[in-house]
Amino acid sequence: MSASIIDGKAIAERLRADIAAEVSRWRGQGGRQPGLAVVLIGNDPASEVYVGSKARQTVAVGMLSFEHRLPAETAQTDLLDLIAQLNADDAVDGILVQLPLPAHIDADLVLRAIDPGKDVDGFHPENAGRLMSGQPGLVPCTPLGCMLLARAAQPDLRGLHAVVLGRSNIVGKPIAQLLLQADCTVTMTHSRSRDLSGLCRQADILIAAVGRPEMVRGDWIKPGAIVIDVGINRLPADPSGKARLVGDVAFAEASPVAGAITPVPGGVGPMTIACLLRNTLQAARASASLS
Ligand code: NDP
Repeated sequence: MSASIIDGKAIAERLRADIAAEVSRWRGQGGRQPGLAVVLIGNDPASEVYVGSKARQTVAVGMLSFEHRLPAETAQTDLLDLIAQLNADDAVDGILVQLPLPAHIDADLVLRAIDPGKDVDGFHPENAGRLMSGQPGLVPCTPLGCMLLARAAQPDLRGLHAVVLGRSNIVGKPIAQLLLQADCTVTMTHSRSRDLSGLCRQADILIAAVGRPEMVRGDWIKPGAIVIDVGINRLPADPSGKARLVGDVAFAEASPVAGAITPVPGGVGPMTIACLLRNTLQAARASASLS
């Protein structure tokens, strides 16, 4: 039997509709229009597309979008000044600095400069610490999206064995924390892990976030498992000139074995911006309750 496909596009669409309804209700009760500021340095084509898409979706759910496009040679101090301004601006509930940053800018320093209450990417050490210690805070968007997709396949994750491939600060580690909070038994793996395929075969939930095209083969999957593929890998164009986007999981091999699986594209990808909007609404609500 073939796995059911976890349709990230449709789930993200529903989430954005729920957010739009919440924003409208909130404004109807006299709440201020939530605002998201996105800062883009330089003109990396992929980042340009991503930032444009964020701005469109922000406006579509009824929020204000503030775009700050700065040249690649922007000095670090100028960027820090802009972040200080955005921190102080009451119309801005969320601040996102598009990564990667040019080499002359210290990304950690920049991310730490963002007010943790406006850190809608959830990368500030204060939010990372809150997640680690189970306190409420802003959670990184892609991991949050993965959890929503896993719950769409299986609402009650308690007691399941989750194996996470990859331990980055922005994907692997926060996902592991969220799975732990959902009462999963969590195994984290990385490039030095031994017997990766054997570990994966034990997984009731397998999260692949390594950035290696189709590394996870069909015989790594436990029959019936939930497979969430975070990887986005662009393969070089074939002779017909068509580039191909694949995940970290060999989808054609894995889908006959898994119980539920996310496709690439159309799985985790669309959830990331929807969760960014969800975080912005959360930040706006928290800010209103403090004022
Ligand atoms: P990083 O490169 O920061 O981390 C990759 C992780 O995978 C590391 O922990 C690394 O281990 C591990 N790894 C690499 N090779 C292997 C291997 N052969 N065996 C086992 N583990 C391995 O990547 P990110 O976490 O930022 O991203 C992971 C993937 O997710 C990428 O494809 C990225 O494009 C995608 N992504 C998708 C998003 C979305 O919106 N859908 C958002 C963010 C990322 P070690 O620590 O030992 O080096």
